[in-house]
Amino acid sequence: MGPVLRHGTEAQKASFLPGIARGELRLQAFGVTEPSSGTDTSALRTTARRQGDCYIVNGQKIWTSRAEHSDLLLLLARTTPRDQAVKKTDGLSVFLIDMRDVLGKSLTIRPIRTMMNHATTELFFDDMEIPASSLVGEEGKGFRYILSGMNAERLLIAAECIGDAKWFIEKASAYAGDRTVFQRPIGQNQGVQFPIAKAYAQMRAAELMVHEAIRLYEAGGNPGEEANLAKLLAADASWAAAEACVQTHGGFGFAEEYDVERKFREARLYQVAPISTNMILSYIAEHVLGMPRSY
Ligand SMILES: Cc1cc2nc3c(=O)[nH]c(=O)nc-3n(C[C@H](O)[C@H](O)[C@H](O)COP(=O)(O)OP(=O)(O)OC[C@H]3O[C@@H](n4cnc5c(N)ncnc54)[C@H](O)[C@@H]3O)c2cc1C
Repeated sequence: MGPVLRHGTEAQKASFLPGIARGELRLQAFGVTEPSSGTDTSALRTTARRQGDCYIVNGQKIWTSRAEHSDLLLLLARTTPRDQAVKKTDGLSVFLIDMRDVLGKSLTIRPIRTMMNHATTELFFDDMEIPASSLVGEEGKGFRYILSGMNAERLLIAAECIGDAKWFIEKASAYAGDRTVFQRPIGQNQGVQFPIAKAYAQMRAAELMVHEAIRLYEAGGNPGEEANLAKLLAADASWAAAEACVQTHGGFGFAEEYDVERKFREARLYQVAPISTNMILSYIAEHVLGMPRSY
């Protein structure tokens, strides 16, 4: 949603935003990652070639979440070949595509089964014709727009991680108070208390960073440092809380009926997506601390 709000044309906003706001139209899919390029977004191979009033899209995306449950897709594609672009991040463009017009014809969606309940897919574009009015902002400037959208996405995920951490901490504290072993609640043992208390401290600190980053973003900024820090700290806090929660539940942490094992699997994702921990650390090292670029 971020790139559409900030860089979409008035016509795009007028035709899509009211329906989205009413809940009748879904913009839930964000197609950036490709099988061969991975984290190196500028190496993506999906192309959009201008032809009269249209663009013709060819290529493939992977891990496009919720595409089966979305009407619209925000797509990043190459409009200028990489070897003709001045910088490798130039020549990429963002498109807002109504998938209902092309699904089952030039667009194929193939679900990927994952270790948790996350509806993610592969997309295949085969001479997919879209109107030229699908272009968001200026042609060739898409990388910049996507980065600002990614900051919003990192904040959204960071907020989700804070919610997850709170859930694990509440669940663990309640169980620690209820479960009696050796004639006393397990939560009376500091060995059980401390990991939960530590996860709580991590969560509270991460939450402050999430709020700070959201404040800067909502003021119109594009806070790369804070959005990355918020995502890193919140994902770590939720993972620490997940660990503490499973450990507190002992064997029951593995029983489906407690939900803990399901949430534990879900929390693991945020060390990898939407950006992996390593890439955030290398961003901080290079862009915040001024160390040499590593890749
Ligand atoms: C369930 C799920 C949902 C997703 N949803 C979406 C979506 O909706 N839209 C979308 O576009 N993408 C989505 N993704 C993709 C996700 O953003 C990527 O998986 C993630 O960015 C990592 O890219 P990759 O899988 O290609 O890993 P790779 O780039 O192959 O990296 C593999 C590992 O190597 C590490 N690594 C790579 N290069 C370096 C380096 N230079 N220095 C240090 N470490 C490095 C990475 O940190 C990672 O741990 C989703 C992924 C999953 C699993």
